[in-house]
Amino acid sequence: MKYLTEFRNGEIARALAREITQITTRPWKIMEVCGGQTHSIIRNGIDQMLPSAPGASVEMIHGPGCPVCVTPLELIDKALAIAALPGVIFCSFGDMLRVPGTDSDLFQVKGRGGDVRVVYSPLDAVDLAVKHPDKQVVFFGVGFETTAPANAMSVHLAKRRDLKNFSLLVSHVLVPPAITAILQSPGNQVQAFLAAGHVCSVMGYWQYPPIAEKFGVPIVVTGFEPLDLLEGIRRAVVQLEAGRHEVENAYSRVVTFDGNQAAQKLLAEVFEVTDRAWRGIGVIPNSGWRLNADYREFDAEERFHITGIHTQESALCRSGDVLRGIIKPAECAAFGKECTPRHPLGATMVSSEGACAAYYNYGRFLSAEELAGAGSALTGAANG
Ligand code: SF4
Repeated sequence: MKYLTEFRNGEIARALAREITQITTRPWKIMEVCGGQTHSIIRNGIDQMLPSAPGASVEMIHGPGCPVCVTPLELIDKALAIAALPGVIFCSFGDMLRVPGTDSDLFQVKGRGGDVRVVYSPLDAVDLAVKHPDKQVVFFGVGFETTAPANAMSVHLAKRRDLKNFSLLVSHVLVPPAITAILQSPGNQVQAFLAAGHVCSVMGYWQYPPIAEKFGVPIVVTGFEPLDLLEGIRRAVVQLEAGRHEVENAYSRVVTFDGNQAAQKLLAEVFEVTDRAWRGIGVIPNSGWRLNADYREFDAEERFHITGIHTQESALCRSGDVLRGIIKPAECAAFGKECTPRHPLGATMVSSEGACAAYYNYGRFLSAEELAGAGSALTGAANG
């Protein structure tokens, strides 16, 4: 397939990995922000191709770029409460259905008689509102800048059609403020970032040069295929080794500096920037979008006034530390024991893009220390 298989070429991947190893002279920590990139890195074993010698290594830290993972528990509980109301058709993408709230999930609400439907576009939910004028149709609008234009279009259309029975439960989060928060957090270890290619396809990358300049970090716009990722990592390491901190575009077949101007115009018409709580991280100032005053009538939180939500996270779950790159999933004591994709304790295990699920699904059950121990035991056996 054009533009896909050529970016999965094993020979070129090995050559890129060799080049990264040759140019690496110090230990570097690079964060891939996006959950899709995390999934691809673990699935393709890219992190295991990188140099790991003491003093000359490249470690990937898995960032908070899985939208399902960072949606606050309080909002999930609100979604469950709205979906259980009589007369409501609650629409969502399929990946939100199994995300556990404090007491249940959308599947369970559906099992108890709630009208919960999986749709493939928020525009399908608008169509449902047209077909069912006697029902309130709610779409769960979760995600980064990538999914926001379609959600913005849904309320834009609903307003144009004067629909009084459509609303959006919004939890949109933004990448640049999250990168800034990570860089400002005490104990931050990230020295360079791979920026998420699909977010940049919408937003461009004009927001990143001030961040690279202020914090002295290289930022490389990167795609999702193995060669995309290795090239992004290579460019980041070249900059780190040279002491440079620039923004580079390693995904130019998709991303331009300015991004999709029509989508950005629509986003500006419908949304306004707001503080957002990120699950596992906390509130990040100016890190999300909400419907602005012109579209507030379509805000499901305003329409349904759900109160009395008391959230409770699992005491065992360390997804906050995973999302901030402080531990790897296998270093959580509950990983693969109390917490599995069938019985997830935290959102990073629920979504297939979550780091814990990626580690579980691809058999990464050893912590970094255990891996190092296993490696030296194998080396010893081989030498012996
Ligand atoms: S393995 Fe489960 S309990 Fe541990 S951090 Fe990940 S989601 Fe939370």
